[in-house]
Amino acid sequence: MAAETAYSVCPHDCPSACALEVDVVDSRTIGRVRGGTSNPVTDGIICAKVARYAERVHHPDRLTRPLRRVGAKGEGAFEPISWDEALDAVAGAFAEAAGRYGAETVWPYLYAGTMGLVQRDGIERLRHTMKYSGMGRTICSSVGKAGWIAGCGALRGTDLREIAESDLIVLWGVNAAATQVQTLHHATNARKARGARIVCIDPYETATAKAADVHLAPGPGTDGALACAVMHVLFAEGFADWEYMRRYTDAPERLQQHLSERTPAWAAAIIGLTEDEIVGFARDYGRTERAFIRFGYGFTRSRNGASNLHAASCLPAVRGAWKHRGGGALMATGDVFSLDRTLIEGSDAADRRVRVLDMSRLGAVLAGEAADLKGGPPVTAMIVQNTNPAVVAPESAKVRAGLLRDDLFLCVHEQFLTETARYADIVLPATTFLEHDDIYTSYGHTFLQVARRVIEPLGECRSNHEVICALADRLGADHPGFRMTAWEMIDATLAASGLPGAEAVHAAGGRDCAPAFEAAHFLDGFAWPDGRFRFAADWEALGALGNGMPSLPDHAPVIEEADDRHPFRLVTAPSHDFLNSSFTETATSQRKQGRPTAFVHPEDCAAHGLRDGDPGRLGNGRGSVVVHAKEHAGTRRGVVVVESIWPNAAFVEGIGINTLVGAEPVPPTGGAAFHDTAVWMQAERKAAE
Ligand code: SF4
Repeated sequence: MAAETAYSVCPHDCPSACALEVDVVDSRTIGRVRGGTSNPVTDGIICAKVARYAERVHHPDRLTRPLRRVGAKGEGAFEPISWDEALDAVAGAFAEAAGRYGAETVWPYLYAGTMGLVQRDGIERLRHTMKYSGMGRTICSSVGKAGWIAGCGALRGTDLREIAESDLIVLWGVNAAATQVQTLHHATNARKARGARIVCIDPYETATAKAADVHLAPGPGTDGALACAVMHVLFAEGFADWEYMRRYTDAPERLQQHLSERTPAWAAAIIGLTEDEIVGFARDYGRTERAFIRFGYGFTRSRNGASNLHAASCLPAVRGAWKHRGGGALMATGDVFSLDRTLIEGSDAADRRVRVLDMSRLGAVLAGEAADLKGGPPVTAMIVQNTNPAVVAPESAKVRAGLLRDDLFLCVHEQFLTETARYADIVLPATTFLEHDDIYTSYGHTFLQVARRVIEPLGECRSNHEVICALADRLGADHPGFRMTAWEMIDATLAASGLPGAEAVHAAGGRDCAPAFEAAHFLDGFAWPDGRFRFAADWEALGALGNGMPSLPDHAPVIEEADDRHPFRLVTAPSHDFLNSSFTETATSQRKQGRPTAFVHPEDCAAHGLRDGDPGRLGNGRGSVVVHAKEHAGTRRGVVVVESIWPNAAFVEGIGINTLVGAEPVPPTGGAAFHDTAVWMQAERKAAE
């Protein structure tokens, strides 16, 4: 029986950043978690995995004490030690490494295990003040963001609440049923209320595709061709809004001329849809003023992901859909939050001469590959917070080899003994979001939210902020942020940003930072000096790898194409019950997901000697992985989908799916092409039975 209900905010790496209502049983125990009803985007809806968060926060495998490795690296044998011993060991190892190789030998490594700014980004303050190596945050969204900014110039767009006024909702490269439940909730409400149609674009039949009215399944990495052919039809059949384009875009005549040969027949041969499917979608889009496209990051995780996203983002500019309420598009909302993050990140202490290493190239960095080390020393000491790279990073065989290096000191601050933590020399127990304070933006909506600790920390768990401050103290790092509590830092950050204080934002259940309709729809101009959407992208201005990318929308044939030796294209789409590698530890998520599974078209199964449930081996030049096959008629021929991210240990041979994924940097920013992998597949009865 809950004694009270507390407001909180979901910290997981999900665009929804849901407002939560948490049943608090006592000072150490929560009950059910529900979606906040006062937040109009959350609208009382959250995903099932967070609704049962009690299972995760009270999990018997939570880490509760600092640990020191006593066995071989990766073996997972540790002994408990005190916090002072642990922090002294980490600070001592960092100081010793820096004394030998210079400060850049230390590499703080983070990602988005929490999206709370204080607990996620405080590690940057430590690295700036100590001049440790920086980390390029390329692993998830940098390519997709570049693709959007190439056209629109800023990360904002149609407010999700406007879906209520949409007549056509296109979910492009996003399995909203698994990764953005509110988007699908608002879309199905619009269908009920006004007969809106839902189109899902995804290479396999997801739960979202099943809920949609139309499912288009282009081959992975061919979305640019689809966008071009749709625009060809818009121009050819009189749906292009020339008045809008002449006022708001850079080169409509050039675009029309360029697309004249990108016909539905041309695209059909590339993407594997019929001409009728392409033309049917184009006409529906063309006939509908209030047509809204919600882009996901899924289709941007490809070697041509940025140009594909840019091509697709041109549709509302050609159609003039931005003019209408319920029309336009949304990729991310990051630029609506004008927060001064200096105090949190310590950017006032930054030295721009310090090297920045690409997080997606972790394996190559740890292998000491010269280009990845940027002319600096080897990485010999790391602290990892909020991420599990042994499972998540591409080319994971190389990552694991690097983490096994005897000369690498590794500290992992975590909630569970993840596979990365098992490689650590020192493991520190971390609080969950319910056990610390933080401030949250969102990349899917416009609410800035502040959450207080709801229950006491489990055991001896400490927050990321506390650990960073304690290490700073031992290392002699000086910055005002190291002398504040998390709450004081939130308050000071809001004050520096000209916003009400932490208490006020918390009490209000968040602060809506939504821009006015005209700004959200770029009707006051796109975010370029001339105010015009760019059909002609300047990729070189957006990233060091932009040279050679197609400026006008196109299909860039730079993907890892299937060939005779590797006849399948692998997609490692998000699973319904995990969030990256989070929730893989909870029994309900494990039970619902079953086991690592390859979705394969029944005819492809038959052609490769596989029956439903058989173990199959997927492989390429990077390695091979055994995974059980599931006949799935909703997966395209020639595509294998392994929903992710299962721990490596869950696979038959202990080798996980990211072993097969390449780490070549994706243009223009660098990043990982998680859904752009060519593989072979064969039956594997003996090895797995
Ligand atoms: S994971 Fe996403 S949908 Fe689920 S509660 Fe968190 S923010 Fe909401």
